[in-house]
Amino acid sequence: MKIFALLITLSLASITSATTVDRIIATALADSNAYLRLGEMCDVVGSRLNGSPGMTRAIAWTLEKMLEDGLIDVRAEKVMVPHWVRGEEKAHVVLPWERPLQILGLGGSVGTPFGGITADALVVADFEELEARADEAEGRIVVFATQWEGYGKTVQYRGHGAKEAARHGAVACLVRSVTNNSLDTTHTGVMRYAAPEDSIPRIPAAAITVEDSELLLRQARRGLPIRIHMKMGARMLDDAPSANVIGEVRGSEKPEEIVLVSGHLDSWDPGCGAHDDGAGVVLAMEVARQLLKLDRPPRRTVRVVLWADEEMTQQGGLAYLNAHQDELPRHVAAMESDSGGYPPAGFSVTADSLIIDKVRTLAAPLAELDADHIREGWSGVDIRNIVETGVPGIGHRVHNDSYFDIHHSAADTFDKVDAEAMAQNVAAMTALIYIIADAEESLRD
Ligand SMILES: [Zn+2]
Repeated sequence: MKIFALLITLSLASITSATTVDRIIATALADSNAYLRLGEMCDVVGSRLNGSPGMTRAIAWTLEKMLEDGLIDVRAEKVMVPHWVRGEEKAHVVLPWERPLQILGLGGSVGTPFGGITADALVVADFEELEARADEAEGRIVVFATQWEGYGKTVQYRGHGAKEAARHGAVACLVRSVTNNSLDTTHTGVMRYAAPEDSIPRIPAAAITVEDSELLLRQARRGLPIRIHMKMGARMLDDAPSANVIGEVRGSEKPEEIVLVSGHLDSWDPGCGAHDDGAGVVLAMEVARQLLKLDRPPRRTVRVVLWADEEMTQQGGLAYLNAHQDELPRHVAAMESDSGGYPPAGFSVTADSLIIDKVRTLAAPLAELDADHIREGWSGVDIRNIVETGVPGIGHRVHNDSYFDIHHSAADTFDKVDAEAMAQNVAAMTALIYIIADAEESLRD
């Protein structure tokens, strides 16, 4: 009799949770709020560079939306961030024939002297060629006319090109935009100088289009003289105040245990950061909004975090680590969405294999969304610090084959966002967050 009753209770419990998850998915798929909200964010708030009026607007706007949605403990936790300003940018090719040259300064770059720089260019295909021709770099503008070999590899030129060029005496550095398919668009992103003790000069660095990079490389290979004029007004100001924006859905049984869901609020300045990471921001907020529609919130607290300063130095993630040390052992999982709002592809988990297997089992109900594919891997740069303390990290994966066509460029705009894909992502993320937050047993037990 007892066993019979237990079986009934168990099957009822699993039916209840299965129907709740099904209901979450059905409700989310029929709701276009995340898509509409991203449109509003792009139109009303705009791009969100550290220290910019757009970032200030974004903090106020997301706080307001969270309160409107009924989240609790809504707050902005202050973070000091690097404050880089782009200034005026202008360039043209002087030789072999005069023409305008589109440039887009890399984040963190110094500017040129007021009158700009005019110098002969040394066009190289990669770091190896620069090393082989190092004695030709002195006084030149080094152009890295690299090929696309995937983001992770090609981005090394954006990050370290200026440092390597300056090591050999170059006066400026131009880097092929880190993209594969290009329609004459420049792509920015953060770059880094050598540490002061290495005493390598800080030279101006900017991106050029794939088209210009290829043309300059062909001209150089033909032995034509290449001379470029470039002017950049970029400079680094004193650190500026910014914030991680946070709000919660209080857990119904274990409110002290936390499941974190997040995206980053800052963006680069061209375009409006629609996919990077406006999508992640509205998706994380929407998870909470969907959970608040349930009759009973999940057992654990779901905390939405919209990170400051992902794009430059990740001070938001660091500030959270320091401010929430005591709570970290009670963080059951942390999710980050920062790959664009494309159709869901599953999740990548940073944890031991036991936890990854658990997530795989828990994610089974996401099969109808094709979002049940769980693999081991990178989960996100903002949650990296807390993941390193043992919090299981969950990266939101999407089918983002065209992401790098627009990434960090003026083309990362709302018209590239698909309403259906956004709703599918809301369904997938809300379902998985709910399952983890409502599970009897903690993911970390
Ligand atoms: Zn991003």
